[in-house]
Formats: sequence, C-alpha cells, structure tokens
Amino acid sequence: MTARIIDGKAVAAALRARIAARVAALPYAPGLRVVRVGDDPASGVYVRNKDRAAQQAGLDSATIQLPEDTSEAALLDVVRRLNADPAVDGILVQLPLPAQIRAATVLETINPAKDVDGFHAVNAGRLATGQKGLVPCTPKGVMHLLAAAGTPLAGARAVVLGRSNIVGKPMAALLLAADATVTVVHSRTLDLAGECRRAQILVAAAGRPEMVKGDWIAEGATVIDVGINRLPDGRLVGDVDFAAARGRAGAITPVPGGVGPMTIACLLENTVDAAEARRG
Ligand code: NDP
Repeated sequence: MTARIIDGKAVAAALRARIAARVAALPYAPGLRVVRVGDDPASGVYVRNKDRAAQQAGLDSATIQLPEDTSEAALLDVVRRLNADPAVDGILVQLPLPAQIRAATVLETINPAKDVDGFHAVNAGRLATGQKGLVPCTPKGVMHLLAAAGTPLAGARAVVLGRSNIVGKPMAALLLAADATVTVVHSRTLDLAGECRRAQILVAAAGRPEMVKGDWIAEGATVIDVGINRLPDGRLVGDVDFAAARGRAGAITPVPGGVGPMTIACLLENTVDAAEARRG
C-alpha cells in the first residue's frame, strides 16, 4: 500500500479562506497580539509567518517585541494591559521565554477568554471536562487534518505518542471527545512499537527524528506526524520514518507541509472564536 498524502498546506489554505470570510462578515477586525521576548531566530520566522497570515485573514495583528533582559514583572504588566484592552481578542506569548521569566506564571496571567494558545489551566480544564473553551492550536489542527482525510474517529484505536501539555495531552482529550479509543504512550512506555502497531490513528509528537519505524505502523493506518526536527545536515524531518511508513499507512502527513501550516491557521481560528465569544 502507498499512503495517501494529507496535504496540510491545502487544508490550512481552505481553513484560512473560511476564517477570512468570517472576519469579513464582522463589524470589527479581531485583534491578535503576539508578545515576543528576545530574538530566538527559530521563533522569529514563526512570529513573522503568524503576523502575515493574520493580516491576510483580515485580523488586526501586531507583534510586541521586548528586549531579552525584560523582567517577569514588566512582561506581566504588558499582559495585563492587553487583558484590559477591549480591541484585543487574542494574546499569545511566544515560547520559549528567557530564564528570568517563569513561563507558567505568564501563561496563567493571560485572561482565559483571550488565551488563543489554549495553554491556560482554565482552558486545559475545560477541554478535559468537555466544556467549550480555547483549544491548543496544534492538536486542533490535527483534528482538522483527520476530518479532511475522512478518517473515522468514533470507536477507532488512536495512539498518541507524547504527553506534553501543548500537544500530547490536549490531543488525547480531543480524540477522546470524538469517541476514539485513546492510548497515550511516552518515554516510560514498555512496548512502544507494539502499542503503535495497534493504532488505526497514530499521532506522533515526541520530538525525536524518525523514531517511528515503518514496521510500527498498522496496514492502512492514518499517521499524523507532529514532529519538526532539524537534522545536522539541515534537513527537516518528522518523528516518523516517512518513506518506510508511507509503504504501510493508508494516509500520512508529510514534514514539512503537514501539521505545521495547520497550527497558524488554528491560531487565527481561535482568535476569531475568542472575538465572537467575548464581543457577542
Ligand atoms: P515535548 O518535548 O514537550 O514532549 C515530548 C513528549 O514525547 C514527551 O511526553 C516525552 O515523554 C515523549 N518522548 C520523547 N522521547 C521519547 C521516546 N524516545 N520514546 C517515547 N516517548 C518519547 O515536545 P512537544 O510536545 O512540545 O513537541 C513534540 C514535537 O512536536 C516536537 O518535535 C515539536 O517540535 C513538534 N511541534 C510541532 C508543532 C507544529 O506546529 N507542527 C507545534 C508544537 C510542537 P515523557 O513525557 O515521558 O518525557
């Protein structure tokens, strides 16, 4: 079997077009503010891409750039000012933050109604308890990709590789909410290959280049590769050995061009959701 490629660029472009149409129908431009401390080069590219995509969708988007030596108190002041600003619907503080700033304290200071990254404990709790809230962008993007691939979720055996707060755990919660039978595997799992082999849906988010081998994939499975890993030779690869997995999976996302484009599209979607929920 040669797997169908799930084209994240195309799915993201369609989602962005739907978002632009929603924005065009609003009497205001939803406001997104990305706060960046220091100039980590990897996040620089990402922040610029976010700004461009947001502006193309008609959002009022801006990046607030702060110096590397910004204190935690100064950053909290910025967040509180954005919390109070009625024109701001979404606040995103770009991670990682410099060592003098506690990321958890900053994330918990963001108004949950404007927490478009979905990382606040209130939003994590809402997701865990099946209430409406803002959902982390990457796992939300994976759900859009599974829908676009036509993968049935109800009752399906889904395996999530990774249990981080930003990908693995919310991913598992979303799949469970969609009635999948969910297993979460991690670095202490005894038989990773065996657990993955049982998956009809495999979502890999471990951050380990090509750790998922071809023979870990069940024939016909849908494989979503969240990993983004830069190899010493400069190549970008996922957590899945793509060439080998493609010979067994039914459908698979490439890296790049799979989950990555969905994350930004879902950030825009969360901003419009937050605007509509807050402004009525
Ligand atoms: P974390 O490092 O926070 O979490 C990785 C998870 O994978 C942990 O739960 C860890 O287990 C597990 N893990 C790591 N190594 C192994 C191993 N050898 N065997 C089994 N489990 C393992 O990463 P993130 O969740 O933040 O990100 C995961 C990947 O997704 C990264 O490559 C990241 O770059 C990418 N990413 C991509 C995005 C996109 O837009 N496409 C957005 C966000 C992330 P344990 O908990 O036991 O340590």
